[in-house]
Amino acid sequence: METEAKVKMDVIETLIRLQEIDRKRDRLQKRLDQVPIKLKEHTDTIARLEASIAEQEQVLRAARAEADRAELEVKTREERREKLKSQMNAPKLSNREYEVIREELAGVLADVNSFSEKALKALEKAGEAESNVGKLKEELRVAREKHEGARGQLEGSLADVRQELQGHDGERTGFLPQVPGEALQIYERVRRKHKDALATVEGTIDRVAGRIGSDLHCASCHMSVTANDAVQVLARKKVIQCKSCVRILYVP
Ligand SMILES: [Zn+2]
Repeated sequence: METEAKVKMDVIETLIRLQEIDRKRDRLQKRLDQVPIKLKEHTDTIARLEASIAEQEQVLRAARAEADRAELEVKTREERREKLKSQMNAPKLSNREYEVIREELAGVLADVNSFSEKALKALEKAGEAESNVGKLKEELRVAREKHEGARGQLEGSLADVRQELQGHDGERTGFLPQVPGEALQIYERVRRKHKDALATVEGTIDRVAGRIGSDLHCASCHMSVTANDAVQVLARKKVIQCKSCVRILYVP
């Protein structure tokens, strides 16, 4: 009987030890998880610059297309203008005919000016966008360099953490055979829900003296623990879970 009790008691002890290993592992992992958070400022800047470049490239394409359209209009009008000019010089034009041509010519000339101005403005806009793209691309290059530098530094400083983490994986694997199968299953199931799978029972309770009060509760979620459960928690003959948060209860 005493042997069995000792074995059962070891169950909780193995779970406490396992939790210590897992906690240490979580702490190391947390440091690694900080890497993307610490680099966020850099990645945000890069994303912002990439978006601005895409936007300016769109402005550039639109302005160039606008300039092309306006230049085509100018070209068409200039061809018409040449044609009208030669018509004007034709012999035997009546005054009326001459006047009609002259009026159209004036209109064509006004159009040429208007479209030339449009083309010029569009080209100016394109030039501005092109210059913006150039500046932004340079900013992006610098931002990427900074990001790579910061990442390299972080990765370098965390190389020992990675190594320690690998060592921990080995420690956990090596320790697992000591944890009874059923208890391990419960532990892993609870751990999927809570990082700390174990919780102490708080209140008037003394494992050595075997004293139990009526104020017992789970230290994690504060749900009350029945006297019956408390007795079993003290006995350590089986794994007792909190009725509310399902953590494995124990009394140190
Ligand atoms: Zn609880």
